[in-house]
Amino acid sequence: MSILIVDDSRFNLRLLKSILQEEGFSNILTATSAMEAFRLMGIHEDGIVTVAQESQGPPTDVELILMDVIMPEIDGIEACRRIKAHPKGADLPIIIVTSNTDNKKMIEEAFAAGATDYIPKPLNKVELLARIHNALALKREMDRRKQREKELLEVTRQLEEANRKLERLTTQDDLTGIANRRHFNRYLAREWARAVRERQGLALILIDIDSFKPYNDHYGHPAGDECLIKVARILQQTAKRPTDLVARYGGEEFAVVLPHTSLEGAAIVAEQMRELVAGLKIEHQYARAEKHITISAGVAATLPEKTQDARVLLQAADEALYAAKKAGRD
Ligand code: GH3
Ligand code: MG
Ligand code: MG
Repeated sequence: MSILIVDDSRFNLRLLKSILQEEGFSNILTATSAMEAFRLMGIHEDGIVTVAQESQGPPTDVELILMDVIMPEIDGIEACRRIKAHPKGADLPIIIVTSNTDNKKMIEEAFAAGATDYIPKPLNKVELLARIHNALALKREMDRRKQREKELLEVTRQLEEANRKLERLTTQDDLTGIANRRHFNRYLAREWARAVRERQGLALILIDIDSFKPYNDHYGHPAGDECLIKVARILQQTAKRPTDLVARYGGEEFAVVLPHTSLEGAAIVAEQMRELVAGLKIEHQYARAEKHITISAGVAATLPEKTQDARVLLQAADEALYAAKKAGRD
């Protein structure tokens, strides 16, 4: 990090430089005009970095500028304005060095142009150094805060990503990838409340794979898992509306929430599901109904009321499922 001194008088440059060096500052750059200062910083004269300047390698890392006011062509105040307008100079402290401290308007202009402070000429060494140390301390503190802010933003981003992942993990069934029971419970409760508000029908299908215990016993647990994945996938594909939810309710049980749906509509969906699962023709020599995997389904629908909750729907669907099993499965 270096300090840049801009002054059209070489005598002043030497004087300032020697004071700073005596104080222990080693990286001191000097420029005899605003243009030279822009070049050193990699800032184009109208505040734009040119390709040529960029290709000359990284510009000098200036931490503080001491700027003379009265200079030919571009004066210190205008130079200050242009540096401040550039992204590279926006946070840079600029101390104006001026013999014209009686000119209130000039001082005002310097501050308006973005100057941080000013030092009167003739130079008082103690005052000069105190102001430089102050400006540098402030700049370093600001840089530290910016860095912390950046780190905080990164941590926030990582936290949000972890939360999204966690959200997926807590709402998804590990084996099949469809919604889990927890997600189903919340969804059903939410849809119940919405149906009450909107005076809309709400339907529920409970599905249970037939003779799944013998399937596991004869074909093995891994085959059972494969079967669950296939069934889950086909059920998911059958419930097509964006508001439909297919969930794994238990071991080999699934539940389907169908908002805005009548009993007849839900029965059609359930029948489609039964047909499609049977259509998979997953061999099952030990099944009671067919020689392949089948499901039984219980369907219930209601016009939800505020005085009740979704349990009535679950109970009704469960009773219907029990009846389907009793009536011969599939
Ligand atoms: P029913 O036709 O009356 O439904 O008979 P069932 O054999 O399907 O009924 P039961 O509830 O007795 O059997 C459920 C079986 O499902 C028990 C267990 O072997 C199997 N099962 C439950 N969860 C899993 C799982 O995550 N993976 C596997 N592979 N099998 C499971
Ligand atoms: Mg069961
Ligand atoms: Mg079963």
